[in-house]
Amino acid sequence: MRHIAIIGSGPAGYYTAEAAQKAFGEDVRVDVIDRLPVPYGLIRFGVAPDHQSIKAVSRRYEAVALTENVRFVGNVCVGKDISIDELLGLYDAVVLATGAPHDRPLEIAGADLHGVYGSAAFVGWYIGHPDFADLEPPLDSSHVVVIGNGNVALDVARILSKTREELGGSDIVSHALDVLETAKTEHVSILGRRGPHQIAMTPKELGELGHLARACPRVDPADLPDVAEDALLEPGVRKSVTCLREFAAYPESFRADKPIEIDFDFFASPVRIEGDGRVERVVVERTALDADMRSVATGETYEIPASLVVSCIGYQTPPIDGVPYEHGRGRFANDEGRILPGLYCVGWARRGPSGTIGTNRPDGYSVVDLIAADVGDGTGKSGRPGLDALLDKRGTQVVKFSDWKKIEEAEIANARDGSPREKFVRIEDMIKAGS
Ligand code: NAP
Repeated sequence: MRHIAIIGSGPAGYYTAEAAQKAFGEDVRVDVIDRLPVPYGLIRFGVAPDHQSIKAVSRRYEAVALTENVRFVGNVCVGKDISIDELLGLYDAVVLATGAPHDRPLEIAGADLHGVYGSAAFVGWYIGHPDFADLEPPLDSSHVVVIGNGNVALDVARILSKTREELGGSDIVSHALDVLETAKTEHVSILGRRGPHQIAMTPKELGELGHLARACPRVDPADLPDVAEDALLEPGVRKSVTCLREFAAYPESFRADKPIEIDFDFFASPVRIEGDGRVERVVVERTALDADMRSVATGETYEIPASLVVSCIGYQTPPIDGVPYEHGRGRFANDEGRILPGLYCVGWARRGPSGTIGTNRPDGYSVVDLIAADVGDGTGKSGRPGLDALLDKRGTQVVKFSDWKKIEEAEIANARDGSPREKFVRIEDMIKAGS
């Protein structure tokens, strides 16, 4: 018998559990441990609330979770309730699938002002992450600045711009929906430190901005390279750039009844955020591209007034004491998923925050190949009974998958009309609903 502990119940965690089940059949016991009482990580707390079809993949993870040899162990924080060393003593393999839930820091003056948030915090607020339920972002002025040219910047700009009706079928939490409905937003400026050819936005997500009820994207035609140069782009980027060209060609009449403008500000790098106790403006420097397509400063600056700044410049994996870490890349130091004997990582914790949900599937399968080679038929460790005894001794209140199903049932029952669920945003409420 092989005993595997997977830390993190997001896509990388459940694909690894699925792979272990396929590889070892009845000869494996997998514990999927999560610090929260609810499973699915990025699916619940990262995928945009208005992208419900993407969230449907959780049904596949549920099928894995409901089998006898895979167990969900929620509300257990590794590093607090149990250490990595203790887990290594109990399991043949410990797989870190902890994702990259922390923001990469925006290292400019004023980034600590009230009203400046990383996307993990701001998205966490509207998506119902318990860590960010009390954020209270200031949406009381006409301008919001969103930093970064990736899909998360698009998610944030879109959610800020949609009407209550457009968010009707989403599972955005009510506390955020109510605030967004009364927000004074008229301009969302998306700052890219490089140009249209360097965006990390995908065509489907970019295209959505062209179909919003009360908002319209604006691209300055002067920022677009010569159209002939698009031929040199990778096909996905070319499609995205085609979208930007469409936005640039919108006639003014198209904007007439759209009170919110989503401005794509290319070649624009924030250099400082200013304000008296809270953000009032962002000072932006014009950039140019060097021969290696890196952004270089031009010395020309301008200001954008804003009450809210959301920095969407990528994520990092939180380090764990005693686990080798690559600080520059914000992930665990690993060799194709191996960290130390018995300790592995998958997904964003292994690769950094890139790719789609599906990218985590091969990751999970390849780490299970490594585990198969390293642990053979198992190394005689105790696995589940050992974990249960330790957590019991410490008085940790474990949330099981059957408890989660009760939480889910209550969330569905509490849903607004048209919404799939109203998430609990307090851990104590989740635990209460699950007991
Ligand atoms: P991302 O795709 O890596 O984009 C980060 C952006 O931040 C880049 O445009 C980068 O510009 C910019 N940036 C980095 N440091 C900066 C700085 N100091 N100042 C200004 N700009 C800076 O990251 P993400 O948007 O967080 O997305 C993470 C992953 O999740 C991606 O793989 C994304 O596709 C995926 N995702 C997918 C969806 C979807 O499919 N619907 C939705 C959300 C997220 P440079 O290029 O110049 O470095």
